[in-house]
Amino acid sequence: MQPCPTLTVDLDAITANYRLIRKTVSPANCAAVIKANAYGLGAEAICRHLLAEQCNTFFFAHLPEALPLTKLINAAGGQALVLNGLGLYASRDFAAAGVIPVLNSLAEARQWIGDVGDAPAALHLDTGMNRLGLPADDDSSILELTNNGLKLVHLMSHLACADQPEREENQTQLRRFQARAAQFDDMPISMTNSAGCFLGAAWQFAMARPGLALYGAQPVIGKSLPLQIPYRFEAPVLQIRQFNKGDGFGYAGTHKAATDGYSATIGAGYTDGIPRGFSNTAHVWIDGLKMPIIGRVSMDSFVADISAHSHPHSLYHQAALIYGQELTIDEQAASAGLSSYELLTRIGGRTITRHVGFPTAN
Ligand SMILES: *Cc1c(COP(=O)(O)O)cnc(C)c1O
Repeated sequence: MQPCPTLTVDLDAITANYRLIRKTVSPANCAAVIKANAYGLGAEAICRHLLAEQCNTFFFAHLPEALPLTKLINAAGGQALVLNGLGLYASRDFAAAGVIPVLNSLAEARQWIGDVGDAPAALHLDTGMNRLGLPADDDSSILELTNNGLKLVHLMSHLACADQPEREENQTQLRRFQARAAQFDDMPISMTNSAGCFLGAAWQFAMARPGLALYGAQPVIGKSLPLQIPYRFEAPVLQIRQFNKGDGFGYAGTHKAATDGYSATIGAGYTDGIPRGFSNTAHVWIDGLKMPIIGRVSMDSFVADISAHSHPHSLYHQAALIYGQELTIDEQAASAGLSSYELLTRIGGRTITRHVGFPTAN
């Protein structure tokens, strides 16, 4: 065990998840969403690994996320797209680096054409998410853009409810997008996030845009896909304490011991991405046992009740697993009433990240 919180990322597990999704969406092309440092797991290592797997399209959220990897991606014949669009960044900075913005409004598209003419761009059509994108039924704006020399290389929309396959909105958004997509039939078109990849063939168009499922978290509510777990987030046990019935733990003493027992103090806290919402709700896994977090998570440490272990003192300086194969992000998120997306992207602070695994043949 390292002396500080450690995240170990198994790149081969991400490849396995990529292959599973690619097979599911085939014959559509499978892109990879590696925004937010690949959801906290390390965008560069994952990008290199997926390039070796013939993944050729990578989505980021902001221009500065894409810049360090664009040369690598473009040299391999791939493309880097930025979902948040131009925003407050300069068009010429995208064009100079060969990064493709996903234009999200008429104003943004006009700005792009005015600034850099026919440099390639993607266009986001809103079909019901009401977050980003030009309304898919806005005929006059779409006509203006196609007539004014916008060089479109990708057309996309985004599903709001794909994690609940039975929701009517999935059908409604699909119908709205199909009505428009027919007009762009030679264009790479995408609509699906991870959950959408499992909705069925009609939603896949020419390309899929999974993020979360690549990183091993379950995208569809109530469904367990055979995804591999690529993350292992651990922190060291700093101290073992014997406690008495009635003792309080942590700030404000929010947990009171019901019996005598043993506790372990673990050297990671909310600085490192362990949410305060784990206080008295989530667990840790130490030496083969799942044990409850007691009291509040503090900045640099938290406490688990290890009374269930037959030799509590043997856990001194061992690794406490916060997320991994034995205790998944999904399980912790469910216990604490939090989102897997948040837990994954929040790992950080003093955490050291190590990548293991190397590209393998198909
Ligand atoms: C983040 C994002 C995705 C990936 O979503 P997951 O649910 O993580 O698979 C796809 N498309 C857009 C527009 C996104 O913002």
